[in-house]
Amino acid sequence: MAQLIDGKRISQEIKDELKIEVQKMEEQGISVCLAVVQVGNDPASTVYVRNKKKACAYVGIESRAYELPEETTEEELVRLVEELNQDASVNGILVQLPLPSHIDEDRIIRTISPDKDVDGFHPVSVGRLWIGEKGFVSCTPAGIIQLLKRSGIGIEGKNCVIAGRSNIVGKPMAALLLRENGTVTVTHSRTKNLSEITSKADILIAAIGKARFITAEYVKDGAVVIDVGMNRDEEGHLCGDVDFEDVEPKVSAITPVPGGVGPMTIAMLMNNCVETVRC
Ligand code: NAP
Repeated sequence: MAQLIDGKRISQEIKDELKIEVQKMEEQGISVCLAVVQVGNDPASTVYVRNKKKACAYVGIESRAYELPEETTEEELVRLVEELNQDASVNGILVQLPLPSHIDEDRIIRTISPDKDVDGFHPVSVGRLWIGEKGFVSCTPAGIIQLLKRSGIGIEGKNCVIAGRSNIVGKPMAALLLRENGTVTVTHSRTKNLSEITSKADILIAAIGKARFITAEYVKDGAVVIDVGMNRDEEGHLCGDVDFEDVEPKVSAITPVPGGVGPMTIAMLMNNCVETVRC
């Protein structure tokens, strides 16, 4: 039977470690504050923002909420972010995506100071990651590295295949696996004979956004499978990119959905917030 990689347990472990670190910082008079900006009231964003605030409260990070109306202009949002950049009492800035369509997301991401870019989306953070400099790393792929390490799964020398090349998952995942000395292949929607490539992976990361797309024929015997997908199936049930029932008997370790990668994203956001004040 495959090892079930428990993201709930590992994310809790990380938040507990951070909580102790934040307590120690507070004893030295250092506090951490995250500004959380939401424009409009997209229900999914409201849930994400609420969960981020809850995690902040647990770890001991102050979260300052900026809830702006849907009609907020791009200029108004740019001004707010610039003010937060200047505000020494704010350590991290998170602008919840997606933004309403009249606002240019890339411009807002670029306006956030790279020193407060806890989502790791700023081009400076992305560049630092690729050249191996210290900086903020996109939370989901950073969480996947923690899942592997804390489950005792080595990356060095392994054949790692990523399905998906998005800026928030696939590409930073490739940089991180490379940093850990994995041998990395990135695939995408134009990749020919996908299953031929994925079935050679020692570690397969599925991040394509297609419900239960990865079946047993895509996977090598004994592989480690990380399922990033968060999809709804025809019945509206939450499911991953991996067909868990089909794949699990064949592999050595696998993440469930829910309870795998999902909880790690917020834990790593908390880690990035603490990182803003680490020496
Ligand atoms: P995205 O921006 O839509 O990117 C999807 C990627 O998959 C693209 O690079 C696309 O290729 C590739 N792709 C699509 N169909 C493919 C196919 N048939 N074969 C190979 N590659 C294919 O998605 P994302 O933001 O990376 O998210 C991916 C999934 O992870 C979604 O289900 C999302 O909800 C989930 N997610 C979960 C978390 C979490 O915290 N658990 C965080 C982020 C995302 P092209 O580039 O060629 O279009």
